[in-house]
Amino acid sequence: MAGRHEYALNLLKALEFAAEKHRDQRRKGVEASPYINHPIQVAEVLATYGQVDDLTTLMAAILHDTIEDTDTTRADLEALFGDAVAEVVSEVTDDKSLPKRERKRLQVEHTPQLSDSAKLIKIADKTCNVRDVGSKPPANWDEARRKEYFEWAEAVVAGCRGINAGLEQHFDECVAASKARLKKEV
Ligand code: ZN
Repeated sequence: MAGRHEYALNLLKALEFAAEKHRDQRRKGVEASPYINHPIQVAEVLATYGQVDDLTTLMAAILHDTIEDTDTTRADLEALFGDAVAEVVSEVTDDKSLPKRERKRLQVEHTPQLSDSAKLIKIADKTCNVRDVGSKPPANWDEARRKEYFEWAEAVVAGCRGINAGLEQHFDECVAASKARLKKEV
């Protein structure tokens, strides 16, 4: 277990790295917020609703999209943050050489086999995405596409259940709120 100072330094080092890697990216929502807000929110959801304080999990949450969406490799993460963090980030990374539909199918299929750290990050990631699609969806996402997204997120999270009641409950609340908002708009 890292001491408090080491704990803080490691988290900040991960944040700095992720911010630098995502510096030119924006979220897909109408507000086009800076991409780094997303991994920060994922880590925050873990800590707030899941009471997660495991350093490896929080660092991997902050770094969770670096391999998938930037030029970062697993080896980079291993060299800077160690094997455990690199492994969890790899676990939550999609194979981008596959077509999108196939990647989405594989997420549902593979999630039950992930480590607990990776499952926690999946739940928090889907929570943040459901919230974003519910409250500030990409401009070209019609109601059917948003609904399809919520259902897919639920299918992924179904494979992560039974490890963190608080996090799972918060996910369910976010899905319910986002679906309710959908109906109001029609
Ligand atoms: Zn993400």
